[in-house]
Amino acid sequence: MSSVLNKGARFLSRLRCSLGVFFLLVMVGLILVVGTLGYLHYQMQMADSARAQRLVADYLKKGAAHQVQIGSFRSSYADLNTLGELAFVRFIRGGEHILLANEEKITFDVNEIMHLAADLEGTWVLLDGHDTAFTLVVGKISGVFQIQAAVIAENYPIYIRIAKNLYLALAIYSVLCSFLAVGITKKSYSSLEKTSAQIAALVNNSGSLPLSVSGNEPEINQLHSQINSLVLHNRTLISVIQGSLDNVAHDLRTPVTRLRSVAEYGLQSDDEGKLRSALADCLEESEQIAAMLRIMMSVAEAESGTMSLHRKVSEVFVGIQDAVELYEYVAEEKEIVISVVADERPFANIDPVRMRQVWANLLDNGIKYGKVGGHVTITLSQEMDSVIVRFQDNGIGVSESEQHKIWERLYRGDRSRSEKGLGLGLNYVKAVVEAHGGTVHVASTLHQGSCFEVRLPAVQATPPQLV
Ligand code: ADP
Repeated sequence: MSSVLNKGARFLSRLRCSLGVFFLLVMVGLILVVGTLGYLHYQMQMADSARAQRLVADYLKKGAAHQVQIGSFRSSYADLNTLGELAFVRFIRGGEHILLANEEKITFDVNEIMHLAADLEGTWVLLDGHDTAFTLVVGKISGVFQIQAAVIAENYPIYIRIAKNLYLALAIYSVLCSFLAVGITKKSYSSLEKTSAQIAALVNNSGSLPLSVSGNEPEINQLHSQINSLVLHNRTLISVIQGSLDNVAHDLRTPVTRLRSVAEYGLQSDDEGKLRSALADCLEESEQIAAMLRIMMSVAEAESGTMSLHRKVSEVFVGIQDAVELYEYVAEEKEIVISVVADERPFANIDPVRMRQVWANLLDNGIKYGKVGGHVTITLSQEMDSVIVRFQDNGIGVSESEQHKIWERLYRGDRSRSEKGLGLGLNYVKAVVEAHGGTVHVASTLHQGSCFEVRLPAVQATPPQLV
């Protein structure tokens, strides 16, 4: 059923396209024909009119008007020689007429001419029921008579013949246009259908990339290039996600095995105390696994560019202050003094929740790996377009050979094993900072202390809107 509907919709869409092309082509032809005929009509009438004027002027020059005596008023066929090329001449005064008609040229009843309006002039006037056209000229003779003269419009039959032929050609052209429109529609759809078949093959994994971008149609090339980059982007995403999944599966194997061993150990024992302690261990392990999963998924999202950041322009100091408040008591226990030096209060377009986690991680490490009675100094400043936050401690430090490893997933320094940790904190810090378009670096000397520096793009704070 749906395939029938699809076919119907496709047919209608092609029909619409064909009709559009057809009307466009026919309109072009029609404009050409009407334009040509209009131009010919004007030129031919001008030529006829000029000839009529010339002949009447000749006629009057011969003094023909003097022969007319309207007082005694007789219509006359005399002096046909002076009429020459003229078909007829009418002299009119008030309600009286004299008509001089050329019998060779007027083959019908002259009374028809007498019914013509006295002031009728112009070109190509047809008398009722006749297909001979006249070109009429009117004028005054010494302010007494009005003269109306006519020549047979020689160009009229030629014009009619040309017009008939052109309209016939237009009809034939219209028929050809209908074939042409169907052909053009078919051709333009065939490229799209080819592209559609190639995409279907890609979806079924039987097609190959890249789609050609060197065809004759620039629009199709552009479409292909966009499809190529879309598919490549998707493939990269899939492989990053696949890699992350593999890593997560690999990294969880150890804690899950540990959890299983503790559970088995507990099951084998009848001692309630051992059972309770095994259960407590299981709980701790499972919480650790859940925490690892959460962080690893966030890192995977950040690395693949799919982490959703709820950014807003925020004062960076506020997030740092929150983290400091959170770690006050932990620092106190180790007699570590936390101080914040913030001469400037720069703004950045950040996800405040994620960045607070970054500051908390760096502060947590500064305290964890700091020495008893030491300090962690947080400095906030702005340099050009960057907000710079430094976490300086005077703790155990990181050896030079370790400094590039500490950002890796699950890496824990040998001297840090005594402290609690998952080895994921800095990995998360790096991923989140980079997702914000920033950078993070460490400068450290073993046994003397470390300085972690985060740089973020600064933004101008917008003043609060007045309502
Ligand atoms: P964790 O702290 O859970 O071990 P992190 O990813 O936060 O994991 O840190 C990785 C390693 O980097 C730590 O195990 C430690 O060896 C080293 N490290 C991080 N911060 C500091 C610091 N401030 N001083 C000294 N070593 C540090």
